[in-house]
Amino acid sequence: MRYYSAPRRALRGVRQLLYPRRCPFCNAVLGSIRTCPDCAEEVDRLRRKPGIRLDASQHYLGGLSGAAAPFRYEGCVRRAILRAKYQAAPWTAVELGVVLAELAFGSEVRMRGAEPVPQRVEGARLGYDCIVPVPASSRRRGYNVPERMAQPLAEALDLPLETKALGPARRKNRQAGLPFEQRLANVAGAFRVQDPDLIEGRRVLLVDDVITTGATAAACAQALLSAGAESVFAVAVATVAVATVEFPPIAQPTLPLQEDADEEI
Ligand SMILES: [Zn+2]
Repeated sequence: MRYYSAPRRALRGVRQLLYPRRCPFCNAVLGSIRTCPDCAEEVDRLRRKPGIRLDASQHYLGGLSGAAAPFRYEGCVRRAILRAKYQAAPWTAVELGVVLAELAFGSEVRMRGAEPVPQRVEGARLGYDCIVPVPASSRRRGYNVPERMAQPLAEALDLPLETKALGPARRKNRQAGLPFEQRLANVAGAFRVQDPDLIEGRRVLLVDDVITTGATAAACAQALLSAGAESVFAVAVATVAVATVEFPPIAQPTLPLQEDADEEI
């Protein structure tokens, strides 16, 4: 039963009466209001503009055909992802996935009652055949954050969400705080394709919560490509700003709308 199927949505509608929907960024009660007025300014400030693609000179992309993330991993975006990961708030991950569908793929989001539902994006299917979430590093929290983030994407792009395709090959040590070389050695071969039939010959959209060095996404791509995937593109809600230098504004007139269109993946 898909996340956005009628029975699932009906169940969540009942739950809304007891636990009203909250802002994923600050946790304030929102109900049927689409975006939180208190967070709008900061959320906009944390967007990576004008492009959301990751630069291969700043991230290790390995065999990935590319990667993108609409936000910098700071402020309320960082707090939202940490809440999704560590505070038993799977709904936060779904809400962030809705924002991802909107900002990275141009999906229009409509409220159905107190639930934001991403609308189908025409033609998006041409670029990908399936969505694969990065497997959970731990089973403790009972849900996988990238998988929850991928649910609205699957709805918006009308793609199958293959949650069983990729799994951990062996126990992975904690990544946070490690230098890049250690991270790379740590995750290389950390994932394996459990069902090659789901992957072979397919163009995969890989979903993660945060891309830091890129080592984890690259290791997933390695496993998927080895199993016969045609290509793997990674998308995440946020990425760590590696360069701290502010680029000067461009003097020449630009076509921001055209550039934005090009950046849609
Ligand atoms: Zn808020």
